[in-house]
Parts: sequence; C-alpha cells; structure tokens
Amino acid sequence: MVINNILWNFELFFSSDWKFLAICLGFNAANSNYFCPWCKIAKNQRENGQIEWAISKSMSDLKENPTAYPGHQLPSLFNMIQLENYIPDKLHIMLRITDRLWELVLQEIKNEGLFNDITRNIIIKEMENLKIRFEFWKIRDTNNWNYTSLMGDDKLRVLQNFNLTKLFDLERAALIKSLWDGFAELYDLLGKKETDPQLFRLKAKAWYELFLKKTVVDPETNIILVQGLYRSSDLTPYIHVLVSHVWEFMSKHQRWGLNSFSCSAVEKKNHDHVSYFFRKTLKNGGKFQNKTSAISEILKHENRLFFYTQNNIPLSYPKPQHIHMSQL
Ligand SMILES: [Zn+2]
Repeated sequence: MVINNILWNFELFFSSDWKFLAICLGFNAANSNYFCPWCKIAKNQRENGQIEWAISKSMSDLKENPTAYPGHQLPSLFNMIQLENYIPDKLHIMLRITDRLWELVLQEIKNEGLFNDITRNIIIKEMENLKIRFEFWKIRDTNNWNYTSLMGDDKLRVLQNFNLTKLFDLERAALIKSLWDGFAELYDLLGKKETDPQLFRLKAKAWYELFLKKTVVDPETNIILVQGLYRSSDLTPYIHVLVSHVWEFMSKHQRWGLNSFSCSAVEKKNHDHVSYFFRKTLKNGGKFQNKTSAISEILKHENRLFFYTQNNIPLSYPKPQHIHMSQL
C-alpha cells in the first residue's frame, strides 16, 4: 500500500479461538480424527512421543486444492495468510488446558466413588480460601453435576494455589501438583519474549511425558510400583499444540513474542459489549427500541463512543440543578 509516496509492506497474521480458526480454514472440528490445523497428526498417533510434529501443511497447497490434507473440507477464507502466521492463542491455550486438568481431577474423584457432598464441600471451602466463588449444582433429570465456570484469572489461581492434599493422599497430590506446576511454568514462559524456544520445546516435551506417565503395577502382588497420571485419550488438541507447535511459533515470531497475538484484549472487548448489551436490555424492559439486531446496536454504540472520544466531547455533564423560582 502506498501512503504519501511511501510503500508499506504488510504481513498478515491470524489469531482466534479454535472454533473460529477451524471455520475460517474450512477445517474439521477439534474432536475429529485429524484435528490439527498445522500438521497431519491423527488421534491415534498422539501417544507416540517419538514422532516430532512440525508445521507441515502449507497454505499454497490448500489454495490449489482445498481438500489437499485430511480433515480440510472447504476453501480457506483467508488464503492470503501463510499457515505459519496463524498463531495459536495463548489465552485459549491456558483456558482450555486448565479446564482439562481440573476435569481430570474431578473425574478421578468420581471414578473412586468419592464425588459426594463431603468432597464437594471440601472443594467449595478450598475455593473460598482462594477467594473464588464456586458452586456445584445437579443438572435437571440427570445424575450429573455442573459447576461454576471460572474466569481466566481464577483459573490460574486454582492452578497455582489449590491445595490438592485436601482431595488426595500426599503422594498422589504431589504428582498431580507437579503436572499443574509444570503447566503454570510453561504458560509463564509462553508469555516471555526472551524465552528460548528450544528450552520451551524440551520443557513442553517433559511435561507431555509426565501427563502420559504410566502406572506400573507388580503383576504378582497387584501393588502399584509407580503411580501414573493420564491416558492419551485425555489429551486435547490444545495440549498437542502447546507441546508440538508453540516452540516453533516462538522461534518464527520471536520479534513480536506470542503475547502480541493473544486474544485476551478481544475477549475483554467482547465482555464489555455483552455487559453493555445486558445493561441496556434491562433498561429497555428487554427490547431494543428500534428493533435492530443486538450486534448492530452494539456497533453503533461503539461508533458513537469513538465520535465523542475523537472530538473530545465530554461523556457526562454535571447534574442539572433544580431552582425554584417564585413570583413575588
Ligand atoms: Zn499439529
């Protein structure tokens, strides 16, 4: 683009959550057999730690043939962006992986038949200690329980501070804690520009091996010799991305750092918009006055805000004063 006789070169990047990324790529859902937008891994290859999965697909191949790779079904919407410029979002890596780690803890308690009121109260109490509002409730007409979905910061606080010895024996708690700490460390390294991608690669690999650590049982006595953690079916696409691809993105985009591509600012904006929508909805008794869609209403509101900001017009005025005048 030429602006004032200066030629500007643009390099385009893309970052979003998984669902939007898959839609824009014309690609499978995250639970499909071929789930990775960047490499050709299939679900049953996840437990094989020996295979190194590098970014191996290319947008120019997809441009020529939208179904060039398994799992790709429709032409990509933004085929002017190279696939290595589709950057996994740090925020969603954190949100989805902490979700999974927490689910796995609850699942283990359920498998042992200990998911009862006593345990649920212990969890709620421990959350209270961490100053987090947390509840369980039974899903109607089922035997399943739902629980409060935590905000990002609270998820991190649980990951770093939840006392697992309240739920497990010391050895078990320490093992799970080491997995949680390992993830917290990776997440921390992920945000730092100075992190060495090769160091990250090694640490992520070690963390992956810990996640998949196998239980070893003495076949004669049935005594557990080595405690393990989880199975390959417990892995998620985000875990694969964290372990196999993040280091490569780090080294390719070290100039900017992966923080620059985080969606957290967009999520914050979305939160503001949703809050605005509900505030306004309540004020108008549940209806927008001119019957336009919520999204266009929100965009217009945004536009008005821009106008006031750009023209430096104050958004509020001092309250008008009532002056009583009486005729003498
Ligand atoms: Zn992959």
